[in-house]
Amino acid sequence: MSGEACGSCGRDGEDLETVQRVYLDAPAPGASERGHDATDDSPGYTLTDDIEQWCPTCRLTFPHLPVDPS
Ligand SMILES: [Zn+2]
Repeated sequence: MSGEACGSCGRDGEDLETVQRVYLDAPAPGASERGHDATDDSPGYTLTDDIEQWCPTCRLTFPHLPVDPS
């Protein structure tokens, strides 16, 4: 075992990948889905500085961006 564990759920795994956690912005209460508003330059998510190693399950479950190790 390498001793590495998923940074999200803590499960040991050999298929961990380096990812950057992303928090999706919650839509405003009462906002209807009207498609993308061209005047809204919000990306709709918030990047964090947290670089973690995630297992396949967490990569399927939670929003994230892949981090190129190179
Ligand atoms: Zn995990």
